[in-house]
Amino acid sequence: MASKVTKTAVKKFKEAFQKRVDMTLAKDLSECNKHDLYMALAYTVRDLQVEAWKTTNQKLASKDAPKRMYYISLEFLMGRTLGNSLINCGFFDQADTALKELGVELEDLLDEEMDAGLGNGGLGRLAACFLDSIASLDLPGFGSGIRYDYGIFRQKIDHGHQVEEPDNWLRFGNPWEVVRPERKRVIKFYGHVECYKDHDGKQWCTWVDTEDVLAMPYDTPIPGFSMGTVNTLRLWSARSIFGFNLTDFNQGDFINANIQKSLTENITKVLYPNDNNYEGKELRLKQQYFLAAATLADMIEDFKDLGLPISDLPKKVVCQLNDTHPAIAVPELMRILMDDEGLTWDEAWNITRQVFAYTNHTLLAEALEKWPVGLIENLLPRHMQIIYEINYHFLREVAQKYPGDNERQCDMSIIQEGGEKMVRMAYLAIVGSFSVNGVAAMHTELLKHDLVRDFYDLYPKKFNNKTNGITPRRWLRKCNPELSELITSKIGDKWVTDLDELQKLIPFAEDKVFRKEISKIKKNNKTRLAEYVKDLTGDELDVNSIFDIQVKRLHEYKRQLLNILHAIHLYQKIKANPKGHYTPRTIIVAGKAAPGYYMAKLIIKMVNSVSAIVNNDPEVNKFLKVLFLPNYSVSMAEVLVPATDLSEQISTAGKEASGTGNMKFALNGALTIGTLDGANVEIKDAVGDDNIYIFGLDVDGVTNLNQNGYNPHDYMPHGSHLANALDLISSGFFCPEDPELFRPLVDSLTIGGDHYKLAADFESYSDAQELVSNDFIKEDDWAKRAILNIANMGGFSSDRTIKQYAEEIWDIKPY
Ligand SMILES: *Cc1c(COP(=O)(O)O)cnc(C)c1O
Repeated sequence: MASKVTKTAVKKFKEAFQKRVDMTLAKDLSECNKHDLYMALAYTVRDLQVEAWKTTNQKLASKDAPKRMYYISLEFLMGRTLGNSLINCGFFDQADTALKELGVELEDLLDEEMDAGLGNGGLGRLAACFLDSIASLDLPGFGSGIRYDYGIFRQKIDHGHQVEEPDNWLRFGNPWEVVRPERKRVIKFYGHVECYKDHDGKQWCTWVDTEDVLAMPYDTPIPGFSMGTVNTLRLWSARSIFGFNLTDFNQGDFINANIQKSLTENITKVLYPNDNNYEGKELRLKQQYFLAAATLADMIEDFKDLGLPISDLPKKVVCQLNDTHPAIAVPELMRILMDDEGLTWDEAWNITRQVFAYTNHTLLAEALEKWPVGLIENLLPRHMQIIYEINYHFLREVAQKYPGDNERQCDMSIIQEGGEKMVRMAYLAIVGSFSVNGVAAMHTELLKHDLVRDFYDLYPKKFNNKTNGITPRRWLRKCNPELSELITSKIGDKWVTDLDELQKLIPFAEDKVFRKEISKIKKNNKTRLAEYVKDLTGDELDVNSIFDIQVKRLHEYKRQLLNILHAIHLYQKIKANPKGHYTPRTIIVAGKAAPGYYMAKLIIKMVNSVSAIVNNDPEVNKFLKVLFLPNYSVSMAEVLVPATDLSEQISTAGKEASGTGNMKFALNGALTIGTLDGANVEIKDAVGDDNIYIFGLDVDGVTNLNQNGYNPHDYMPHGSHLANALDLISSGFFCPEDPELFRPLVDSLTIGGDHYKLAADFESYSDAQELVSNDFIKEDDWAKRAILNIANMGGFSSDRTIKQYAEEIWDIKPY
């Protein structure tokens, strides 16, 4: 538990820190710059975790080791580690005091840390929140991922346009990781398969003439809150086997040998920057197989140390597939069990289907992975054979259940025929897993009854819901220290590990003094954000205005364009009557667009162009400011979330699987304006209809429009607010130097058919926004509703989510 900030404890901490300055940096304190001090502090904090980390690892290595879960994910969006570790280890206050005595500000050192940006958005951040909850619940669980040399790109804005720069996050060293060369693995690619029958008539296959790559593991400790358990995130880095196999070199071709080396090390060079969008590049498939194969080789070795028969594997391990990205692990385990362990098809399949569980994260067609058969055949020939055989057995099962229904067999086939043959990875994951889960109640229903309804028909018991959550340690305790202290002063600190405790705040919603304190803290956090923005862009914010914030990946379905069309409407309204009274509003948008996503990038430019006009118009900027903040990241979210009055969660109904940004904001006392999409539905049920602004079409409404022929022009008659806003854009007003620049955005709503239903939802959205403007000035009532949001968000803790995974899917228990 958190040790008290006693004189001796502070003294001990200071000594430990001094020792790290001395022995690790080989410098005197007086010679250290900020980054040196950060490194010394990070090592000091890692040292604090080592004993508990070793103890946890020893429990896992013992003969009576518990069943453990491997969370296999191509993304872990960890953000910064230092502040979170200090809190989870219970040393935040000691470190703060000790450093002050040395004349150093802890906050400054926390800001020195680079974000570990090994993910795109929600999916990767979910994996990070899950690791925190798994450790805090003392559960045996590993994260397994890729140690990308370059994480998600750094976003710069140049003349309003997104420019991508490489994220060289490892340049100054990573103090948290420990390399484990003794656990390296050899990963095979290409080659071909040779099969033969032995004298018992049993067929054996071997994968030969392969091109091999080393997988080198780097371990990062994951301390649970109060540090009973310290789990491991193991990230794999590709290394050339050059140095083991010197053929090229021995033939005197030093240069080519080195080129080969850098080609193989390319595998873990860079994260693919697509969110909710599939990219069918061979290098991406290599990343996926590299991770799957390294994780399983590691897992099997540890299992074998237990001395149990291989048939006991499902009693000791379970693998959660974070989306289909690592789904190639299914045929990989089959390969290991048959080709290495000598099991029959039925024995191997029986084990495999008890080891994997699959989480679906999206219903968007463009995000569903489909790999060309030819590509897999070339890169992973043995796996392609196994996938064909899985499909053969599976389709026989379908035929038995639905005799004569050939169409259903075609629809459900793992191999998509007609045109280039493709492997449907979601189908492979469903067939190869014992559990398939969606990430919010509504999403799971759509999964079962729409996206993969034939599979739900066949395997109804496999399907289950696990509504996403967020860790209260990072997303309240760490990012909002003032609110945390106020809450603790009223209800104690049990909420940090039992977020349902926040319910005890409900009576305080009626307490005038408490409401004032809540408003005061929000104002302080808005001031902190204003300073942050001043540093970042030079813009001055009015902390009395509504902080209306939409931060998330740029995507048409998330409808940042709807937000900006509303901003243009407000601009036109103010210009038409500059002497009117308006509730001041600061609209902040941030988020990265995939580098190849033309429309998303154009929306960023649009936000910046509107910003330039609005913010520089003295008639308008008293009432309205529009800002685009560059390079949205976890550490930026930690500043934005506590400072938000209004959280924008405005995706087209049926498109956002869950969302987790929505949860962070509500937990920190923002009110949500949102559609009935993803977890917004459950947030509305939790906080109550009076404490959220719901607008627009629901899923059935969207479906009806699609079925009955949607005409966006019906929703934007001449002279309507939306038509006026679109006319202003069309006139070239926001970009006089290139008046046609935004034509594709306007066209997407008109001749493009408005796929995301912005026109249908615009009026309802701007009505809801007007309500917000009217309600916000009733400060006391707004504070009351903010409190009811905070108090009712307990169910959105990732601790709740992880308990459900542990009990209902993984069957794992605390150490
Ligand atoms: C929480 C989070 C997300 C996910 O946001 P959504 O609004 O759920 O899409 C994306 N990026 C970062 C940095 C986050 O912290």
